[in-house]
Amino acid sequence: MTTTFGAYGGRYVPETLIPALDELTAGWNAAKNDESFHRELHELLTTYAGRPTPLTPAPRFAPGKRLYLKREDLNHTGAHKLNNALGQAVLARRLGKHRIVAETGAGQHGVATATVCAKFGLECVVYMGAEDMRRQKPNVERMHLLGAEVRAVEFGTKTLKEATSEAIRDWITNVDTTHYLIGSCVGPAPYPELVRDLQRVIGDEAREQFLAAEGRLPEVVVACVGGGSNAIGAFYAFVDDTDVRLVGVEAAGAASLGTGRPGVLHGARSSILADEDGQIADAHSISAGLDYPGVGPEHAALRDAGRAEYLPCTDDQALAAFHRLAETEGIIPALESSHALARALDLDEELVLVCLSGRGDKDLAEVLAHS
Ligand SMILES: *Cc1c(COP(=O)(O)O)cnc(C)c1O
Repeated sequence: MTTTFGAYGGRYVPETLIPALDELTAGWNAAKNDESFHRELHELLTTYAGRPTPLTPAPRFAPGKRLYLKREDLNHTGAHKLNNALGQAVLARRLGKHRIVAETGAGQHGVATATVCAKFGLECVVYMGAEDMRRQKPNVERMHLLGAEVRAVEFGTKTLKEATSEAIRDWITNVDTTHYLIGSCVGPAPYPELVRDLQRVIGDEAREQFLAAEGRLPEVVVACVGGGSNAIGAFYAFVDDTDVRLVGVEAAGAASLGTGRPGVLHGARSSILADEDGQIADAHSISAGLDYPGVGPEHAALRDAGRAEYLPCTDDQALAAFHRLAETEGIIPALESSHALARALDLDEELVLVCLSGRGDKDLAEVLAHS
């Protein structure tokens, strides 16, 4: 069993998927060392996604601190997810795959995947729980407009957990033609590492931008954690800077790192929300993007090593930070990112970098329902 991050990671999948995971690993290793791959991806990130994203000071949001926002909300489609979807689409084409499957909960990853499939002319099937389709109707309509087929998953809780199982089943059946485009740093190896490498552009850019703005590194980097991809992307450039504190913020009702236990979910061993028998527990968060009972294995390893800390944030704390950023800085953040904003305010450090993972337009109905 390939275990990539200390005691975590690995490949807990049916034997039939191992050749595809090996092919993906080899394809990624070749792409990583190929100048033309980096040129193509860089060109897309620049001319299509809108990178580099700015680093914005937020003095009215955080008086008494020097707090900066890494503006992933300004990416095309409104969040960091496009960084990963673009990279995996370029990789899928190199591997000769013309069909993409994905799973989505809130629909944000489904929209990013449908976007890149439209751009590259790839066939796109997105699995989504029927309950999530009802709650996230505008994103279902966006995916349809972008030419994707959205398949409703009607069993279990009819949410992300079941949609992921269905996407894996599809991949097993169609593995010769199909790339499974996973949306966060989760799943069997090499996905956690692959997604991290595609999201590390966040921290690589922010590290340079912070140095240019302040002449030194931040004292702390803060990011919200669902599956953990924007957080690992923001953290990675700072992991060796041992005096930079790394703080991940989980939804209090979906704290896979804060209150979870070691276990296997969706192909990897990590820290998960489960009962003593390993039965997966239901997660809860006001923000659909954090509402997942698992987390990327690299975060579990960073936690155990004491290199990163993971703090909880309640729905109410996130909502307060959402309104505060809108009113003090003129930026409406995603509810996911609002979790990071909320906890960043109470930290003792003065020099703070927060990953603003996405914009809040998608969350207006949810926020209005709570006010
Ligand atoms: C999906 C999403 C998240 C959670 O995913 P991670 O993999 O933990 O980054 C966070 N913020 C936004 C805006 C999202 O769309």
